[in-house]
Amino acid sequence: MSCLFCRIAAGEIPASKVFEDADVLAFNDINPQAPTHVLVVPRRHIASLNDLTDEDDQIVGEVVRRAAAIAKTKGISESGFRTVFNTNREAGQTVFHIHLHLIGGRAMHWPPG
Ligand code: 5GP
Ligand code: ZN
Repeated sequence: MSCLFCRIAAGEIPASKVFEDADVLAFNDINPQAPTHVLVVPRRHIASLNDLTDEDDQIVGEVVRRAAAIAKTKGISESGFRTVFNTNREAGQTVFHIHLHLIGGRAMHWPPG
C-alpha cells in the first residue's frame, strides 16, 4: 500500500487524529497553514474528485459534514472557516487520496493564490 493517507488510515503512519469512525478519519495537517488546519479523509481510497462516482455521494457528504462538526468543536463555526479539495496540478494537489482541508482561526483572503 503506497498511498500516504491509506497508510495513515490503517495506522501504519502516525497522525494527530481529531476524529475517526468506520468511514472517516480527520487529523491535523503536518504543515498547518492556520491555527486550525485539519484534513478530513474517507478511509476508502479515492484518488481525486475526478474519480468520484454516484456511489461516493454518501461518503463525500459525511466528509463535508464532519468538517463542519470539527469546525464547531474548534470554535470557528461563527468566525468562519475555509474548506478546500485541491484537484490535480494547478490546484496544488500533492496527495492523491481525497482530503478536505478545514482551515480556520485567522482571517483569509479571496481569491486564493
Ligand atoms: P494537497 O496539497 O494534496 O491538497 O494537501 C496535502 C496535505 O497533506 C498538505 O497540506 C500537507 O501538509 C499534508 N501532509 C503531507 N504529508 C503529511 C503527513 O505525513 N501527515 C500529515 N498529517 N499531513 C501531511
Ligand atoms: Zn489512499
